[in-house]
Amino acid sequence: MAAGVGFLSSFTRDGKSLPRYQPTGKGLKLTFKPYELQLKHTFTIASNSRTTTAVMLTELEWEGVTGYGEASMPPYLGESHQTATKFLAALNLSQFKDPFRMEEILDYVDQIMPGNCAAKAAVDIALHDLVGKLLNQPWHRIWGYSAEKTPLTTFTIGIDKSAEVVIAKTKEASAFKILKVKIGGGNDEEMIKSVRSVTNVPLCVDVNQGWKDRQQALDKIHWLKEQGVVFVEQPMDKTNFDDNAWLTQHSPLPTIGDEAMQRVSDLVKLHGVYSGINCKLMKCTGMREGHRIIEMARSLKMKTLMGCMTETSCGISAASQLAPIVDWADLDGNLLISNDIFEGMKVVEGKVTLSDLPGIGCRKL
Ligand code: MG
Repeated sequence: MAAGVGFLSSFTRDGKSLPRYQPTGKGLKLTFKPYELQLKHTFTIASNSRTTTAVMLTELEWEGVTGYGEASMPPYLGESHQTATKFLAALNLSQFKDPFRMEEILDYVDQIMPGNCAAKAAVDIALHDLVGKLLNQPWHRIWGYSAEKTPLTTFTIGIDKSAEVVIAKTKEASAFKILKVKIGGGNDEEMIKSVRSVTNVPLCVDVNQGWKDRQQALDKIHWLKEQGVVFVEQPMDKTNFDDNAWLTQHSPLPTIGDEAMQRVSDLVKLHGVYSGINCKLMKCTGMREGHRIIEMARSLKMKTLMGCMTETSCGISAASQLAPIVDWADLDGNLLISNDIFEGMKVVEGKVTLSDLPGIGCRKL
């Protein structure tokens, strides 16, 4: 094996010692750039509509190797180009001379300010990409997961008052073998009937806290089950633990907490309230904590969904590294935008299909 920059040049021939990186005294160099994602369609959920998403693109360089990261900041989560700039500018990563000390580096990033979860994820993802590239392996391999065990991904159909628009969007999504339908906007039955008029694939629904009465919610879930729905995401207000727990207890379909689930510490509170959780890197500060959340949820026998925001293929490829161990994936965020600048994970016949590229498994276009 050739000795690269930073490699120990000598190692024994008995196979017991491997070449490895050695810190050379140079610190990590972080750079960042604001970017605006253009959405192909106006995206409407129970609470709002939009046509763009602000993201911050990060690069973390060490010894000539660059890791890529991303913060996606939909407005309802409270982060913006301004907050991410303030957060990232406050970091001093040049003090870290060894990128393999990931725990130390990411503890520092997490503790410097509260909140800023997407901005923290932008550093976490870039660090994972850098370290995976230094090891020349993608993270699903480093973690020990089998690439072929990835699930199908859902593709999201947003709420629209026009049945024709819903039908057209559903037809456009004919390559997907499971769809996520946004409901909770007052026209639930029309949404499902429009989708069902053109496809028989399994559906999941995301209510985005839109239901207010638990008995009506339960009646709707029974009807949705008859329509071939497989799970119900965030049925009621995220702060209403009692009604969500009652619904989960009585529901014939699994319930999934999304808005209620942010950091790993939320998981303990949500055990018993929902059947499972939706883990998104932008909510939980990135791959280190996302990995913990998925592993802990599985230990608690909770269902796991790996989700995303509208993101480039950088963020989506990072999230996809965890896809081999989740029950469901909702990793369509890069497919909803028209100006992606990365390529990585691909959806092949509806299935999350990981690239062999090292790190988070993506390359810049
Ligand atoms: Mg959701």
